[in-house]
Amino acid sequence: MRITAAFRTDQGQVRANNQDNLQVGRTVFAVADGMGGHVAGEVASEEAVKPLKAMDGSRYDTPEAATEALREAVEAANSDVIGKARSNPDWAGMGTTLTAVLVRDEHVHLAHVGDSRAYLYRDGALSQLTTDHTLVEQLVQEGRLSREEIATHPQRSVITRAIGVEPTVDVDTLQPLALQPGDRLLLCSDGLTGPVDEDTIAGILGGVEDPHAAVDQLVDLANTEGGPDNITVVLLSVTEGEPDPAERSDGRPAVQAPAAIPIRPDPHREHHNGNWASDMGRLADRQGVDRGAGPPPGSGRVKRLLAVLTGALVLAAVVAAGAWLIFSRAWFVGAADGEVAIFQGLPEEVAGIALYRISERSGVALTDLPPLQRQRVVNGVTTASLGEAQQTVATYRENAAEAQPVPDPAEPAEPTEADAPQRGDAQPDDGGQG
Ligand code: CA
Repeated sequence: MRITAAFRTDQGQVRANNQDNLQVGRTVFAVADGMGGHVAGEVASEEAVKPLKAMDGSRYDTPEAATEALREAVEAANSDVIGKARSNPDWAGMGTTLTAVLVRDEHVHLAHVGDSRAYLYRDGALSQLTTDHTLVEQLVQEGRLSREEIATHPQRSVITRAIGVEPTVDVDTLQPLALQPGDRLLLCSDGLTGPVDEDTIAGILGGVEDPHAAVDQLVDLANTEGGPDNITVVLLSVTEGEPDPAERSDGRPAVQAPAAIPIRPDPHREHHNGNWASDMGRLADRQGVDRGAGPPPGSGRVKRLLAVLTGALVLAAVVAAGAWLIFSRAWFVGAADGEVAIFQGLPEEVAGIALYRISERSGVALTDLPPLQRQRVVNGVTTASLGEAQQTVATYRENAAEAQPVPDPAEPAEPTEADAPQRGDAQPDDGGQG
């Protein structure tokens, strides 16, 4: 079995710089999509791939050891980005996604934080291996948003988990995946998956044999579609044949690799909803819906439409009233009049009825928070209890104090909305002017 890596990173058509970074080595591959004002995003993504680079070519005795090493590298990336951010006020609040794979004994190990993605293309079907850590994905998982609504959701670029934001980071890992000849493993930033739909990506992966040409086509297509964001693509193509010595993960000939790795539950997988198989099923279902959905039936009369709308509103109001009973025990940290506050309920409105009320104000100004945290507060950070909400506010209070830039009369700091972690075409220019 032979694995060929092809890759490309591109600024796109709109952004002033490229805040993506990648790692392509012998055994370790990664994509990082940085965010932050000025050059902070670049700094964050570059810092984040360093621990991955450092482990490239290392040998591991067991699959478990390989997965654990990958997780530790991502956790190290988190600590390193936080440390880097503290070293320069201009970098406060920067963060990055990180999606990394390690190839060992013809198996792929994966670790993931954020909304960059890993896909497996096999037997003509494209399966997303990672779960996006985004607000919209969370709403979909909770059944409050359909997949079809994601593309137009105003907050589709808001991420819920990133490297460099909190002192500890939850890292998704998956069971090692046994590679087969013909497989293609795609790592990419949202600069690809935003403008290019999955059917098109699958078409290119299935239709373009040369890995480098396939990567070029993917990046070129994202640019043709407007190139609203930085585009980064890493493609591993698996073919029959003797591996190049440099591509062997452990120095042993690939043909002597064990045919199968015993599968056992990964104790660290609690943050990933599902498994390889169900991920594939989820994507297949989605593609089936996309293919099968024809144009909507002819529109009815206006009266009938109004009746349906009225009925829907009444139903929504009833649902909202019922929901309030359920949600009165829920808590979240959100924004009220420009400051951090604790709310009882859920950060939602249904039919104009708010499902929350203010419980406590904190006195912490939103503008004092690092941009990523500010965005999270604006979106609402749900907590399990009032006590947890109070702890969260305490953390934000500390961060607000730390994030205060050192006054520099020569160059006043300017934490603006441009630093917020909104990415994608919703905010094409993140203000990075140099
Ligand atoms: Ca991006």
